[in-house]
Amino acid sequence: MKLLEYEAKHLLQERMKAVVMGLVTSEPEDAVEYCRELGLPVVVKAQVEAGGRGKAGGVKMARTLDEVREHASAILDLEIKGHQVKEVLISKAVDIAEEWYAGITFNRAARGYTAIFSRAGGVDIEEVAATRPQDIARLDVDPASGLELEAGLTLARDAGLRGPHAEEVAGIFIELWDLVLEHDLDLVEINPLALAEDGGIVALDCKMTVDDSALFRQPDLVALRAGQPLDDEGRARQMGFSYVELDGDIGIIGNGAGLVMATMDAVKAAGGDPANFLDIGGGARAEVVRNALRLVQSRPGIKGILVNVFGGITRGDEVARGLAAAVAAEPPSVPLVVRLTGTMAEEGLEILRSDTEIAAVPEMAAAAERIVELAG
Ligand code: GDP
Ligand code: MN
Repeated sequence: MKLLEYEAKHLLQERMKAVVMGLVTSEPEDAVEYCRELGLPVVVKAQVEAGGRGKAGGVKMARTLDEVREHASAILDLEIKGHQVKEVLISKAVDIAEEWYAGITFNRAARGYTAIFSRAGGVDIEEVAATRPQDIARLDVDPASGLELEAGLTLARDAGLRGPHAEEVAGIFIELWDLVLEHDLDLVEINPLALAEDGGIVALDCKMTVDDSALFRQPDLVALRAGQPLDDEGRARQMGFSYVELDGDIGIIGNGAGLVMATMDAVKAAGGDPANFLDIGGGARAEVVRNALRLVQSRPGIKGILVNVFGGITRGDEVARGLAAAVAAEPPSVPLVVRLTGTMAEEGLEILRSDTEIAAVPEMAAAAERIVELAG
């Protein structure tokens, strides 16, 4: 789950003094009123779950009250990377001497986290990493031992900071690490962490991503999205599915993570490209199957669906009846191939063949080839 800038800054503010906040509003006139008190210039910033807002026209400096109104209205009309802007953050503009980057990210390859600091901030850190990797200092953080002040100092010095600045940045990293632990963050980044003309170090932007698997123990963060429509992965979670969206066009549904992964491999081997990973877990009642089919079909560009079920405790004939009922209630809009094996698979396949139009195939590689052919 991605936090909006102002949500992330609220959390950051509990641990770091110099966080540039302001007013969050969806009304340009409120922004103007606020600036009458606050003074000018201000920065008007789109609040969306996407980075690179500056480049997309979602961050604008306003020097007059008319500009505040104009920029707020224009930004509230924007859609950035598929996200409609609903709110803007108005904050006092800071005179910037330098823009730095400070972040901690979950790093699977390192079996831990990596802390990153650079004095070449403000822009995409990926871009800096690609074009001038020498300007980025990194340090792997073992979650068991954590991030200590000494490590933070090393990081800041590796990036060329000295004296009080290095110490301050090291202190910020300690706070960022505590935030990672406290809120189960996959990512926290301050970009830019600005060195202001007056010598202070201030957080101008902040991004946080919460580990979705840890949301059950972050009720305060979940509550931020209460009442808002969930995205597909959120809805899938609510239905008890494990679901991951991928780039291909063949929907994959199965029971059991290993089986679903094997099915994805089989589709790949047959020359297809999986659109998703969807594990419906144990049981295959009609309603569960219907929800799974509906979810996968809702993806744009889907060309076919392969359902691969291993009948264990859940019997093949029950699965087949569930599928038949689901398809009867809502005929699929794309070709559907079902592969059934295990307990009562024969009976299940027979039900599918006699009661439905579904292509029922007992063998996995053949089922994968079939769906690739039908989708092609
Ligand atoms: P992002 O594009 O989504 O990362 O949005 P940011 O909040 O990081 O803003 C993009 C850029 O706008 C920053 O890198 C700064 O160069 C500039 N910016 C943001 N706030 C201020 C500010 O208070 N003063 C000045 N001078 N520039 C700012
Ligand atoms: Mn930024």
